[in-house]
Amino acid sequence: MPASIVLGTQWGDEGKGKAVDYLADRMDFVVRYQGGNNAGHTVIAEGRLLKLQLIPSGILYDHITSVIAGGVVVDPRHLIKEMNELRALGVDVSRLVVSGNAHLIMPYHLELEKVTERFLGKNALGTTKRGIGPAYGDKAARIGLRVQDLFDAKIFREKLDVVLREKNLILTKIYNRLPLDADRIVEEYVDLASQLEPHVADTGALLYRGLQDGKHVMLEGAQGTLLDLDHGTYPFVTSSTPVAGYALASAGIGPREVDRVIGIVKAYVTRVGAGPFPTEDVDETGERLGVRGNEFGTVTGRKRRCGWFDAVLGRYAARLNGLTELFVTKLDVLSGFERVRICTGYRADGALYDDFPPHQSLFHKAEPVYEELDGWMEEIDEATSFEDLPKEARTYVHRLEELVGVPVSVVSIGPARQQSLPVG
Ligand code: GDP
Repeated sequence: MPASIVLGTQWGDEGKGKAVDYLADRMDFVVRYQGGNNAGHTVIAEGRLLKLQLIPSGILYDHITSVIAGGVVVDPRHLIKEMNELRALGVDVSRLVVSGNAHLIMPYHLELEKVTERFLGKNALGTTKRGIGPAYGDKAARIGLRVQDLFDAKIFREKLDVVLREKNLILTKIYNRLPLDADRIVEEYVDLASQLEPHVADTGALLYRGLQDGKHVMLEGAQGTLLDLDHGTYPFVTSSTPVAGYALASAGIGPREVDRVIGIVKAYVTRVGAGPFPTEDVDETGERLGVRGNEFGTVTGRKRRCGWFDAVLGRYAARLNGLTELFVTKLDVLSGFERVRICTGYRADGALYDDFPPHQSLFHKAEPVYEELDGWMEEIDEATSFEDLPKEARTYVHRLEELVGVPVSVVSIGPARQQSLPVG
């Protein structure tokens, strides 16, 4: 059976948790492929509100094996805490499997991120300070510790001593902080390792066998396409690679296994923190989208910037990820606007762009070119089929698919599982 990739097409917070939860029903494996415990999916299932940060939302289904793939960075303290929280809510976490290749977030990553963000002052990236960027940095520098190192005490200690020597110099000599103690880290991580051990496996081999046996695999991205380290608005990006290509590299499966790439598209656009955002509306519309859409970060509580749907970004995401379908979320938030707008292109330095501009400075200056459609005044969150929606809402959805060039398969009209309407 082929695999599917599900990912965010904007700056994250598209409602991926809800979409993955809806799509997961027919899956056997749900795999998280990048990022760390900075993602923060919110899922409402069977009346329970769950905030998942690292564990794939497939965990809510008894028939699904949830996998944390090798391209994720894992803070073992956080992972154990999240597993315990789920257990306390009655969720069975025994089918969670973690790749031994995943890199560990270590206590010095958290310390260093705190002090370097402070040091950057007004240029701070506004990260979630979970140590994720520093852990990916060490991975690239080949001084990272991996989940599998937890199970070889000698290797773990050796690697830790080497890396801690340098980290402690940086902490004490540059940032005037106290050094970290290797013995204490070992003691804590040995205990965490014993709790994690039953969950650690070669996830690449596990997924390969699953695909050979005709199982359904869904690869779930965190953050969004415009936050991609290579293809996003660098440096206002995340430290990993949300685009579809990385799903395969991380999970360790080949491109021929994939037949669906589902792009999660919010019916408008939001962005957290700094960085360019052409359709941002700092007036009444933005305020209203934020309030109606409850646009506050799951992890940080930060208020998100809001604006109209941007089809240029939609086309960019379609191209980069090879999207085969769109899952539109939060259409209900647009109820009550007499007119709704869609950005179809940008104007920058006197030229018109209908594709993502070739230089980022142009993107920073981009003025949106809008087309206007009739809005709909009624609430739509109780609709039970796509055909039930007001004509204007359906026209809006069809216009999105036309402008992005990818068919819409599902429209979401509320946070609950049943508020997802198949299209066509
Ligand atoms: P994610 O990280 O992409 O999963 O996004 P978030 O969890 O930050 O945002 C999704 C939020 O919107 C959650 O609170 C969801 O319950 C909620 N949500 C998801 N889909 C819809 C929808 O169609 N309508 C409304 N009103 N809320 C939704």
